Amino acid sequence: MSNSGTAEVLIPRNLCLIEDLDNLNIDVEDLCSVSINWENGFVSELKPLKSKNKKPKNILFPRFVETHSHVDKAFTWVDFPNLESNYGGALAVNLEEHKTRTSDKVLKRVEKSLELAIKNGYRAIRTHIDTYKSQPIDIWIELFKLQKKFSSELTLQFVALAPLEFWDTSSGEELAKIFSSNGGILGGVVVPPFNKQDTSKFLSKMLLLASKYKLEIDLHIDESIIEPGAGIKVLLETIEDSKINSVPITCSHLSSLISLSHKEILNLGEKMAKKNIKVIALPLTNFWLLNRDTKTTQLKRPVAPIKQLQKSHVDVSLGSDNVQDPWYPFGNFDPFYMLSCSLPMLQLNPWERMTLSSIFLAPSRLLNLKWDGLIKKGCPADFVILDAQRWADVFSSTLKRKVFIKGDLYC
Ligand SMILES: [Zn+2]
Repeated sequence: MSNSGTAEVLIPRNLCLIEDLDNLNIDVEDLCSVSINWENGFVSELKPLKSKNKKPKNILFPRFVETHSHVDKAFTWVDFPNLESNYGGALAVNLEEHKTRTSDKVLKRVEKSLELAIKNGYRAIRTHIDTYKSQPIDIWIELFKLQKKFSSELTLQFVALAPLEFWDTSSGEELAKIFSSNGGILGGVVVPPFNKQDTSKFLSKMLLLASKYKLEIDLHIDESIIEPGAGIKVLLETIEDSKINSVPITCSHLSSLISLSHKEILNLGEKMAKKNIKVIALPLTNFWLLNRDTKTTQLKRPVAPIKQLQKSHVDVSLGSDNVQDPWYPFGNFDPFYMLSCSLPMLQLNPWERMTLSSIFLAPSRLLNLKWDGLIKKGCPADFVILDAQRWADVFSSTLKRKVFIKGDLYC
């Protein structure tokens, strides 16, 4: 029968919900040996493999979730390079790209990105789409068509990445209305230096709009090295003053928080957790773009303080961000590229529960997916199976993978 199968594999213990725990064989890297069966696209049986001597030759992961991407500008580096590789240069070149942007070009980039992402093992992507007043609203109709076209293989979420003041215009309201029936998230940028009063005013308008149309907000916030935490502090104050607590909010980046004291981070983290604000850490673009100070020999790389925020009970996800555009020249919509670069840089142990949470479980919660990403009886047979026995094989350059979608081998 198609969409059915069986395999003997290793699964990270924290990604595996198994009833017969007593008989589970777990190796030193917390990989457990199991036999897995699936029928009609769903896992029908999951049992421990008893023989200690027979270690499976494959590691199984749930298909991945990308929490933060920019598919509308992916692969534009070749025509719009930012050879100085700093934030200012990226923004300037990005705005140049807007001048030649057409719906057709954007849709081609999106399609290419999604095809690669599916092939590499993603099941869902949240992507930002540059949004500005002069842009024809029709692009959204086309984007929603693409979302539908790919829906059997991939869940796609759009965030309209607009200047904050856009959400205080009639075009902003019109787009919010379209999002209320098609899905879609309000996005913006809060990066210092900024005028605190104006920022607070526009954030509160955005909160009102999101609340009116029952939408979420995802902000590029504190993606800087100056004024650590200035953006999140204004956001927290604005939420407090507006008394709107029903809007789900994601803070992407928050990289400048790393310069605050341990106590300050925990304190802000507690306030964020109380408001259920979720965080996406984006090490690749942050490390690449920020703090390119050649006058110091100190290597200071800003990124959201993942472990401290998790300690304050903030749900933190990892994301890739840009792919081959003015903001970041590398990447290929491959979760293993992102993880191979990020885990060593961030000192995140892949065998630990909180690391696996930031890769699989928190992203599934963030995108509100039906499946939390835990491998268990009844879950979708949506896997990435690697020729691997150890974590060293996972993060190697000779990775061989098979992607299964609803029980069928995709590639
Ligand atoms: Zn971004």
